[in-house]
Amino acid sequence: MSSTSSTSATTRRSFLALGAAMAAVPAIATLVGAVPAEPASAADTLPDYAPIPPSALGPALNAQGYHVGRVEKNLYWVTDGTYQAAFLTTKEGVVLFDAPPSIGHNLQRAIDQIASANGVSNKVTHIVYSHHHADHLGGSSLFGPDVVRVGHIETKRLLARDNDPTRPVPDLTFETHHTLRVGGERIDVAWHGTNHTPDNSYIHFPDHDTLMLVDIQLPGWAPFDSFNLNEDVPGSIAAPAKAMAYPWKHYIGGHMGRLGTRQDMVVYQQYVTDLLDGVNKALTAVDPTPFFTKYGNNSWAAVKTYQAAQVDYAAAPVIKKYTGVLAAADVYTASTAFVLLESIRLDLGAGSRVHP
Ligand SMILES: [Zn+2]
Repeated sequence: MSSTSSTSATTRRSFLALGAAMAAVPAIATLVGAVPAEPASAADTLPDYAPIPPSALGPALNAQGYHVGRVEKNLYWVTDGTYQAAFLTTKEGVVLFDAPPSIGHNLQRAIDQIASANGVSNKVTHIVYSHHHADHLGGSSLFGPDVVRVGHIETKRLLARDNDPTRPVPDLTFETHHTLRVGGERIDVAWHGTNHTPDNSYIHFPDHDTLMLVDIQLPGWAPFDSFNLNEDVPGSIAAPAKAMAYPWKHYIGGHMGRLGTRQDMVVYQQYVTDLLDGVNKALTAVDPTPFFTKYGNNSWAAVKTYQAAQVDYAAAPVIKKYTGVLAAADVYTASTAFVLLESIRLDLGAGSRVHP
């Protein structure tokens, strides 16, 4: 989802460094024969959040840190608990769908595991790209230069712009839709307008009752920060209905530890509807006067605090309703409410009045 992979890489490095520092503490304590002093830890001041509902969690990961499972027939999915990819074994090799770098070399391990169990080829011949984001494609180059990469025409343009050697540009592109046939298997890829990104595509497996649509609905979880770091809010609000227009039973959302169902999409659509209702009510319910009175000519301070009050008005009842239903509803609902508020203002023109 993220265009902030450098940030998460930094966070991961910091986290690893912290882990090493923590691991060193007992050794030092043993050397000096002392009990380590209570650290003035950031953890003491970090906020508490609601527990994750068991319904949000998927199968346990193996010792290498991944789980691979059958979606239906010869279609499989792989997760590291946060990211997801999928692959189809065929008579002529393997078609891989996305290559998140966080799963990385575990992608081939998962494929090897399934291929050897079923006596089929483990050679990846094609990679289908959901969208250009590095956090879903940064493992693509692990499969070498001879793989046929398939993606939307805009994915090709954006990857050419980004010029990242870990994400080779697609060899085979499409504008609206393309039916990929490999080893007797059929995959329909389609573009139905911009949403999370300008290029985000619908990957339908008509013979496997499955739809893969990444960074729209994350089964079991509230959206990630700021409505999944949204680039086109009206497009993203429209995406679930386009997804539901396809026939499918299994949903691969690209994130977290389990597959989705149609019921997950229904819950997600209701969550977005409830949040939009709250934001629309906040437009009239929250009085801007006190904010502009207090901050005078500091327009940014007035707008910031006024919008924060609108966000709180919209998000609070939604957080309450979905806590225990969607994991982390209390973590990111407010940031999504802010993005919806700005979209209603800027895309739909609410509150824009022409000066008389
Ligand atoms: Zn993305």
